[in-house]
Amino acid sequence: MEHVVVVGGGLAGHRAVQELSGFPGRVTLVGDERHRPYDRPPLSKQVLLGTMEAGATGFPCDGLDVDWRLGDAAVGLDADAHVVRLAGGEEVSYDGLVIATGRRARPWPELPQTSGFHLLRSLDDARALQRATAHASDVVIIGAGFIGCEVAASLRKQGVDRVTLVDVAAHPMPVIGAVAGNAARRIHEEHGVHFRMGAAVAGFEHHAGRVVGVRLQDGELIPAEVVLLALGSEPNSEWLTGSGVELIRGNVACDPWCFVRGVDDVVAAGDVAAWAHPHAPEPHGLVCVEHWSTAREMARSAVANLLAAPDERRPFSVVPTFWSDQYDVKIKSAGLLAAATHFETVEEDAAARRLIVEARRDGELVGAVVFNKNRAIVGYTRELMAAMTSVGV
Ligand SMILES: Cc1cc2nc3c(=O)[nH]c(=O)nc-3n(C[C@H](O)[C@H](O)[C@H](O)COP(=O)(O)OP(=O)(O)OC[C@H]3O[C@@H](n4cnc5c(N)ncnc54)[C@H](O)[C@@H]3O)c2cc1C
Repeated sequence: MEHVVVVGGGLAGHRAVQELSGFPGRVTLVGDERHRPYDRPPLSKQVLLGTMEAGATGFPCDGLDVDWRLGDAAVGLDADAHVVRLAGGEEVSYDGLVIATGRRARPWPELPQTSGFHLLRSLDDARALQRATAHASDVVIIGAGFIGCEVAASLRKQGVDRVTLVDVAAHPMPVIGAVAGNAARRIHEEHGVHFRMGAAVAGFEHHAGRVVGVRLQDGELIPAEVVLLALGSEPNSEWLTGSGVELIRGNVACDPWCFVRGVDDVVAAGDVAAWAHPHAPEPHGLVCVEHWSTAREMARSAVANLLAAPDERRPFSVVPTFWSDQYDVKIKSAGLLAAATHFETVEEDAAARRLIVEARRDGELVGAVVFNKNRAIVGYTRELMAAMTSVGV
């Protein structure tokens, strides 16, 4: 193998080129953003709060022997010819390919052509949101998932008067379950955040080219100078259409060694990849985990397997873990919370903002979520890893 091409210059792409640093051949990274790889978690936290410069989120790139093709997107893959086509018209041939194109923020369908609407996925998004909210009084966040909740916390700390979270779900961050989600809601309310849960958006009011309010289906109008659409994400995989790469709901299907199903010499890693996990729901048995630590570990494993002889490849196996910072609360999870059929509260101390909730499926532990209980989550991660090892994953 002489030339490895990594497509996607995010966390997984960066980790992939780091892992390739001992590789004697050539390494090319194709990224559609004009920035070198940077870290996304600070965008909704320190960058928005103004405690970290947006430019300070970059990953270390000194010493990486990489041909950087930045600001040019991959638009097609000819897997038989081993060629990636770029938007600029260039064709880049490879012996080994790493797909690490991640996800993008899900847009609102048919948004009015007015200013004031924001998404948050990239550095440029964070800069635009920071500028827009610096002097805003009324901000509405549609979507009370992790990013929506983190932004709400950052904006309140930053001094925005009225921050409202709107979601059709019954409680924020639905994946962490009702007890943890409602505990988070109480903490946000103590910090002055308003909630409209179980509420659907009917449309937007605008005036002189700017959004001025969010209309709910029950008729209420919430004033808004800025609206953040935090509606989850969708995979960046359109460029693979017709290439033979197997896509499941747009996610790149991988075998246990991170090789992409359907084509040769191609691995995938990070948020765009779907991989085997013992708690994954059938029929596919694959999960798509949008967590920092999983993206990083999968990139390491994918590149190691791409370079290894077939009998030296090792299956990718991690316990997904996640963290989220909201005010003085560190929320951490381990395992596959989405696989839970019920949640059991093990410890709750509302005053100290401490919580431990176990996620179980038919009695079996599949995950845990904690507030300000770092040591406990380490224990759960070990327990879940031991269970995976015992079933041979
Ligand atoms: C605001 C925010 C806060 C977060 N906070 C946390 C947190 O607190 N804890 C946590 O565990 N996780 C957090 N995450 C999730 C974590 O950042 C992701 O899991 C991680 O970034 C995934 O890395 P990735 O490389 O797979 O994808 P990405 O980081 O999305 O990188 C993919 C890159 O590929 C590029 N690309 C896409 N299509 C193409 C193409 N066709 N050609 C070339 N390049 C392309 C994209 O522009 C992007 O640069 C957060 C994410 C965001 C957005």
